[in-house]
Amino acid sequence: RLDEVVQKCTQVFSQLAIVKEISLETAIEEPLEIVGDGERLHQLMVILLDNALKYTNKGGTIFVSCKKEGNRVAILVKDSGIGISKENIPFLFDRFYRVDKMRSRATEGTGLGLSIAKWIVDAHHGKITVSSEEGKGTSFLVTLPWK
Ligand code: ATP
Repeated sequence: RLDEVVQKCTQVFSQLAIVKEISLETAIEEPLEIVGDGERLHQLMVILLDNALKYTNKGGTIFVSCKKEGNRVAILVKDSGIGISKENIPFLFDRFYRVDKMRSRATEGTGLGLSIAKWIVDAHHGKITVSSEEGKGTSFLVTLPWK
């Protein structure tokens, strides 16, 4: 049950969001049954939520939705954070790539998260796309086949 995986993961992060004064909203359709590896899908959610939280400042919002769209399920993780510049978007899913150079913020990371996320999505025959505007926020959209 994909909805349960997403729900559970979002619950954990909602505690962290409270601490950072970020509001976390969800719209999760249920039940959503897909054939997949629950542990990997959990890991995928952790990566996306961890980034959303990491790159969003105090007072921001994170929105997570999960719903059926035709013969796929769509998971959206949208934040009102610092965003990613156009130049960096093509490399985001590369291993060890980090949008670090021009950023003074001391965020830690290996740059592996999104490459692992892509690997998990690929293994489920899904797609992951990103849209982002600097200073406004970032959305990651994952679609997975459910039949
Ligand atoms: P980790 O492997 O610990 O997650 P990381 O966050 O550096 O480290 P990725 O998750 O692969 O690595 O992300 C790559 C880069 O993409 C990050 O360095 C960050 O600059 C950018 N990024 C990812 N998610 C977001 C987001 N939601 N908002 C803004 N920038 C992001």
